[in-house]
Amino acid sequence: MTIRSAMQEGYSLLYYAEVDTPLLDAIILLAETMHISKEKLYASFPDSLPPEFYAQYKERLKKRCEGIPVSYIINKKEFYGITFYVDERVLVPRPDTEIAVETVAGLVKENPGIHSVHDLCTGSGCIAISLKSILPRLEISASDISGDALEVCKMNCRNILEQEIPLYQSDLLENIPGKFDLIVANPPYLTGREVDEMKKIGWPEPVLALHGGKEGLKISEMIIKQSGRKIKPGGFLVLESAPPLMGILSDQLKDDGFERIGIVNDLAGRERIIHGRRK
Ligand code: GLN
Repeated sequence: MTIRSAMQEGYSLLYYAEVDTPLLDAIILLAETMHISKEKLYASFPDSLPPEFYAQYKERLKKRCEGIPVSYIINKKEFYGITFYVDERVLVPRPDTEIAVETVAGLVKENPGIHSVHDLCTGSGCIAISLKSILPRLEISASDISGDALEVCKMNCRNILEQEIPLYQSDLLENIPGKFDLIVANPPYLTGREVDEMKKIGWPEPVLALHGGKEGLKISEMIIKQSGRKIKPGGFLVLESAPPLMGILSDQLKDDGFERIGIVNDLAGRERIIHGRRK
């Protein structure tokens, strides 16, 4: 069996299993199984595939056909140019969330008084860790309600930053000491109906990280309410949410003492990040 024919076999299995990106997924799974880059894989097409790799590759293709995301199969996800460890305990970081990192970095640049930043609902730690790697002088802490997610976050801090950051297990801001110059969060914001649809197809990501109540607003509204007493006057709140919820969140931020509301679009041009400054 050549590497080319293994790739073709994987493509065809994934294609008939109606995977969205069968070619890309087959290539990534094969390259990861062989511990080589995609480029090296292309260059090795005529070579033969060692049988132990073939067995592992087939195992991985089977999981992909069952709907498990590539990131959970290979336990890796690129985010903000950094490779994060991920598994079923955390949401797979989305490219849209990179905009949250950029929004915070932009606010820090415009407001040099920002020193302390807290990442709520951190999951894999992708926001906190990306910020710490580009802005090492920031005092960054992170929290999550899920102890399982915090284990993953801790592992990513050690592997990527080679240092620990303060991590708290907390229901939103409940058990977090101190006040911050900025709080950022990618909270669960999908609607009850969206989550039900995902459950129906056996979506493997943690529901806790996705379900934002009936309308998707519940957790974001609680964060806005609690932030008043946890963000220093003149400090900022940055939230990722769903495009249809932006109007309501903007009104709520204004009602709860925030001004200078800004909205940033995601890569598809939809409103995805909202931020405001505490008066
Ligand atoms: N953006 C994610 C999705 O569409 C949801 C993330 C979240 O709820 N924080 O699947």
